[in-house]
Amino acid sequence: LSFDEMGIKEELLRGIYNYGFEKPSAIQQRAVLPIISHRDVIAQAQSGTGKTSMIALAVCQIVDTKTSEVQALILSPTRELASQTEKVILAIGDYINVQAHACVGGKSVGEDIRKLEHGVQVVSGTPGRVCDMIKRRTLRTRSIKILILDESDEMLSRGFKDQIYDVYRYLPPDLQVVLISATLPNEILEITSKFMTDPVRILV
Ligand code: AMP
Repeated sequence: LSFDEMGIKEELLRGIYNYGFEKPSAIQQRAVLPIISHRDVIAQAQSGTGKTSMIALAVCQIVDTKTSEVQALILSPTRELASQTEKVILAIGDYINVQAHACVGGKSVGEDIRKLEHGVQVVSGTPGRVCDMIKRRTLRTRSIKILILDESDEMLSRGFKDQIYDVYRYLPPDLQVVLISATLPNEILEITSKFMTDPVRILV
């Protein structure tokens, strides 16, 4: 499967090729299609497999850049990963004019408020700060269509379980969920059974 054969928007394809990618990696080949067809997906994958770019690609394809409401939410275990994901989304999505914001601890809350009130389609953040912004009603959840839980096992080992469940409670009922994890211990399977419907399973 090539990027051309995935049914991706023209301007997004341009962004991907311009970013230097020629051919999708294994996880991109297997996960992008089900995600952009709105299926719930469990992907067992390590970092370095192209999963960040897979997330960026799928999110850019799904969001409608004609409206400025948050439509995609990505949760990551660390500020660095959340910021990296935001960067790749902005780079690949350059020609679709996607607006993304990294909502992470350690940065000023004022900056989050400014960016979120200005309007973004994608938020990539850490569970604590995202939860905080939702509770302040700065991050509006009503138009969120997809939740991506990246490095889920790592989020749990960092003690983010309660915040993940908290965030989930604020999201619309017909939500699409994508879970990425290197390992699938019981606590992860619990999340998949509570948050997901008939998920596609991918092992890379
Ligand atoms: P990631 O797991 O998304 O952080 O990707 C790991 C590394 O592989 C990064 O340097 C990416 O830029 C690169 N990469 C990801 N997908 C592709 C691709 N389809 N073609 C070439 N390089 C890629």
